[in-house]
Amino acid sequence: MNSKVLIIYTGGTIGMVEDPITGTLHPFDFDHLFNEVPELQKLEIELEVESIKSPIDSSNVDSEVWMELIAIIEKHYDQFDGFVVLHGSDTMAYTASALSFLIENNSKPIIFTGSQLPIGTLRTDGKENLITAIEIAGAKRNGKAIVPEVAIYFEYDLYRANRTTKMSAENFQAFQSPNYPILAEAGVHIRFNDHAISGIPKEKVFFRKKISSDVASIKIFPGMKRDIFQAIGSIKGLEGLILETYGSGNAPTADWMIAEVEELNKKGVVIVNITQCATGHVNQGKYETSAQFEKLGVIGGSNMTFEAALCKLMYLLACDEISKEEARSYMAEDLRGELG
Ligand code: ASP
Repeated sequence: MNSKVLIIYTGGTIGMVEDPITGTLHPFDFDHLFNEVPELQKLEIELEVESIKSPIDSSNVDSEVWMELIAIIEKHYDQFDGFVVLHGSDTMAYTASALSFLIENNSKPIIFTGSQLPIGTLRTDGKENLITAIEIAGAKRNGKAIVPEVAIYFEYDLYRANRTTKMSAENFQAFQSPNYPILAEAGVHIRFNDHAISGIPKEKVFFRKKISSDVASIKIFPGMKRDIFQAIGSIKGLEGLILETYGSGNAPTADWMIAEVEELNKKGVVIVNITQCATGHVNQGKYETSAQFEKLGVIGGSNMTFEAALCKLMYLLACDEISKEEARSYMAEDLRGELG
């Protein structure tokens, strides 16, 4: 039996047209996609399409759009074998990471893709990305999904969503997964990297309907002023903070920095330490310049991408049944293959 795949359009370059007067790109009516890609009719996969209410440039994405996506996937979850989410590449790694946490016990392929050039342009990368993403979303072996996880397909490579970062603003190969192997590579055939792909969970799928926006991040830089910490630390309702540190989790050992972290601790803010480096782990205590964080109970974020760490924190802080202490310990644990 043919697989059934739902394409969900959210906007992004893949579905944009050029305004003939101003030359700027803006989202077009999704119905045009089938006119632009007649090849879709040749696929031996049953396709349906749905669009979010107001397609966006993904730089405008917010938690409301994430919840709209969750609602669409939940509504259709049982009728489809897989999903392809068309999304702008700018924030694709955030949305895909968020969904990887919000959909608990997911057993279906949810494949994000987009393009660097609009699908209507001559040298577009959008057609190949779309067609292969659909093939991956519908791919089964012995009746079971080959990629039962949230992933990003771009320019011949399939990546685990919560391991992926946008690395290039202009290359067709826009994404990389620096700390985890690719899940599949598309050439003449699609070669699945089975040992890197998640197994199918036994428990029933569960869709989270809430995510916290009471989070912030601070990227440490040389000469940084205490005022920055104070301003962010005094945000009303702040519950979680991502600290982007140097190397293996290092930062200045200045007394004020320690005092500010202590202050945040008193307020119960969950602080997660991730590295500014694209590869490698945070290892608090390896150097004196990270030992203070370990002593202060800052969570070492291992090798999580910024996108994964942020979305995981937003997800955990919104789980009502979880205490702050549990949220802290889950941040250091591998929940969806996002770290380690
Ligand atoms: N600005 C666009 C977006 O993220 C870029 C893209 O689609 O790749 O929506």
